[in-house]
Amino acid sequence: MSPRPGPTFPDWPQFDDTERRALDRALTQGQWWRMGGNEVDSFEREFAEYHGTRHALAVTNGTHALELALQAMGVGAGAEVIVPAFTFISSSQAAQRIGAVAVPVDVDPDTYNIDVTATAEVITPRTRVIMPVHMAGLVADMDALDKLAADAGVRIVQDAAHAHGARWRGKRVGELDSIAAFSFQNGKLMTAGEGGALLFPDADEYEKAFLHHSCGRPRTDRGYHHRVAGTNMRMNEFSAAVLRAQLGRLDRQIELREQRWPFLSALLSRIPGVRPQGGDTRADRNPHYMAMFRLPGWSEERRNLLVDRLVERGIPAYAGFRAIYRTAAFWETGAPEESVDAIARRCPNADAIGRDCVWLHHRTLLASEQVLTETAEIVADAVAAG
Ligand SMILES: *Cc1c(COP(=O)(O)O)cnc(C)c1O
Repeated sequence: MSPRPGPTFPDWPQFDDTERRALDRALTQGQWWRMGGNEVDSFEREFAEYHGTRHALAVTNGTHALELALQAMGVGAGAEVIVPAFTFISSSQAAQRIGAVAVPVDVDPDTYNIDVTATAEVITPRTRVIMPVHMAGLVADMDALDKLAADAGVRIVQDAAHAHGARWRGKRVGELDSIAAFSFQNGKLMTAGEGGALLFPDADEYEKAFLHHSCGRPRTDRGYHHRVAGTNMRMNEFSAAVLRAQLGRLDRQIELREQRWPFLSALLSRIPGVRPQGGDTRADRNPHYMAMFRLPGWSEERRNLLVDRLVERGIPAYAGFRAIYRTAAFWETGAPEESVDAIARRCPNADAIGRDCVWLHHRTLLASEQVLTETAEIVADAVAAG
């Protein structure tokens, strides 16, 4: 028997003549770095405006964006940064790289977003920042987090690497009054292969971040006046040109994914043992960076076999993030003085989700309902077999 052809999904990344023209524009400009060209400046204006704020800074990638956010706030050695235990490792690595301690907390078993009660329990006098991750585009409970942060006198940095165009009770990410960090890596909702950006509600911190991201050098400096310690995290003109084109198709794609996810999620929830990621009506615009579901009670090994089976059938499926404290990297520097087991005991949901979660690439949600019906049938078969 020959293998059945799998369902076909739209490609990712997507591009057309808009990106081609944009790259040509950047090339012929004759200035390929931001200090001489116009593309990064224009992209920053457009990205800030799109998210309802004034100050955006484009950088080399999302990991650097998080590092830079913390640095602009003066967070460094000795500080503690609270991060969800279930996230991509950059959330904690950014804190650890600048000498801070990353403190993992548990997440909600349904939304996979940071658990606010658990967060309150790990706040100490050294805590400087809470870093919610808007998991797969679902904005974390910003009302409760803002209140907790205000009461405790700590700041919030949004890891918005999954949340381009997301909203919380009608507010755009840039209107939520905290620094937000984005990624434009190849798989993200808009991309130039690599890249990142920050939104700042505060002009002074934006200026600090600008200096730091350009070797401490003021914008118009010609005299090598390096005013603060810094590094080079500047985005190049080609990336920004492509990102301006990518931003132009984001709304249409979000609209489509917002229609498709309820459809797919309803089909998945009918499969015995499958539990799709939950929502929150207050997170009223979700760009759907991933289509996620759990197989509660499954072992990591069994989940991985399921992912293999889905991939064989042509589904762009992946295992979910491993709980950050279950990686070697986490323990190299900036880990709390707690054992793995102790952290795992207070993060039971992140621990379980790290074993039993599967995600499908967001290009799945750009496919037709027919294709999604086929997808759900394949998931049902694979789950029944496993
Ligand atoms: C992708 C991602 C990042 C880092 O972005 P890069 O551009 O790959 O450095 C940070 N946080 C989360 C949650 C991510 O998914």
